[in-house]
Amino acid sequence: MPLREYQNDVISGVKKAYREGKRSPCIVLPCGGGKSVIVAEIAKRTTMKGNRVLFIVHRKELCDQIFKTFKGWGVDMKLCKIGMVQTVSRQIHKLKPPSLIITDENHHSKAASYKKIYEAFPSARRVGVTATPVRLDGSGLADVNDELVIGVDAKWLIDHHYLAPYDYYAPSMVDLTDVKTSRGDYDSKGSEKVMLKKAVFGDVIENYRRLADGKQAICYCTTINHSLAMEQAFNAAGIDARHIDGSTPKAERDRIINLFRNGQIDILCNVDLISEGFDVPDCECAILLRPTKSLTLYIQQSMRCMRYKPGKRAIIIDHVGNYARFGLPDEPRKWKLDTKKKKTQKKEQDDLNIKNCPECFMVFPLTDENGIRYSSCPFCGYEFPKKEKSEIEQAKATLEKIEGFVLEYDSPDDCNSYQELLAYAERKGYKKGWAWHQAKMRGMIR
Ligand SMILES: [Zn+2]
Repeated sequence: MPLREYQNDVISGVKKAYREGKRSPCIVLPCGGGKSVIVAEIAKRTTMKGNRVLFIVHRKELCDQIFKTFKGWGVDMKLCKIGMVQTVSRQIHKLKPPSLIITDENHHSKAASYKKIYEAFPSARRVGVTATPVRLDGSGLADVNDELVIGVDAKWLIDHHYLAPYDYYAPSMVDLTDVKTSRGDYDSKGSEKVMLKKAVFGDVIENYRRLADGKQAICYCTTINHSLAMEQAFNAAGIDARHIDGSTPKAERDRIINLFRNGQIDILCNVDLISEGFDVPDCECAILLRPTKSLTLYIQQSMRCMRYKPGKRAIIIDHVGNYARFGLPDEPRKWKLDTKKKKTQKKEQDDLNIKNCPECFMVFPLTDENGIRYSSCPFCGYEFPKKEKSEIEQAKATLEKIEGFVLEYDSPDDCNSYQELLAYAERKGYKKGWAWHQAKMRGMIR
């Protein structure tokens, strides 16, 4: 199987970086863009010249998978070592010095164990790979990389039939105002409490039936407890679901994944297991029940159902408002090596260019392909209220001036859902409970 043209372009980009004296470029390509074959090709060319490769991953589960890909691609595995970062960093003294270090999921690479490996082999060239060259706190990768080699984006992959197009729904609202942040993301215990409410289960099942009935789905949960409860709720409703997590014995996990592959299970419930690189069979739907502040996690989880198949249209059902924090999965993003914290993050949030139809719950870009703002929902035809329309005209005028983006929420009246009110409140720095009262007043929550 030859590389695709855009994959070859990425490899040329890496070579160019080395030629220009860079030591540690990072490849940026969306989920589903074929990052593993690109690094396999780079590893193959390196081993063909008799040079050693060290490939570091952050999850044990990925080693076997990558070994198979590399072997199948023709990498000389006698010269290539694949290992988990913790293991490798403990065994540095046993390793023969590599001439190339490849770092998978490069956005993790700030941790001490990665640095220890890099520092042990200072003369090795490095290359990293990720879909999202940004850390949870919003900072870039300038401390470990000296160049970003940015490939095509998700929209391009969809337009060129390398990823399936998708419909994005955000039907129900959970109240996250009281959930604390811990280590940069929503606290899992706090989110679990919100997600374990009976009404939420009802909503999840009802909307799965309404929007994706009978389609195979991966369901992302906040905790193992929550995932098990979701499994039970689906099964009680007559929908065949199974839970897996990192502690599920390998044989059992393989068995369950095989059942899913053969279509004998409809829903696969998990926490974060099926996110980074974890090879699961194709499915058509992702159910997001895990609120996150991590762009990386959001993109990995929502795009997991977008593997291309002719005629396929993926369905993403977001019950936790991740879209309101990050925009749609294929929203164009400007990556920088050196991201300024906070301010940039905040600004990016302001640039969100999406709308949630209050009638059919579809989430879509604010403007059509010609940059004209929708006055009605492109899916169900729902006419947005008049008042808003006049503001739309104004926004259009501003749009032409400032090239490219408008603020989605100029006033709480612009918000069509509780999620949007929550996002609005967060942006404005309003107190807790403000969004709740606004939503209550507008009949958006019961
Ligand atoms: Zn609609």
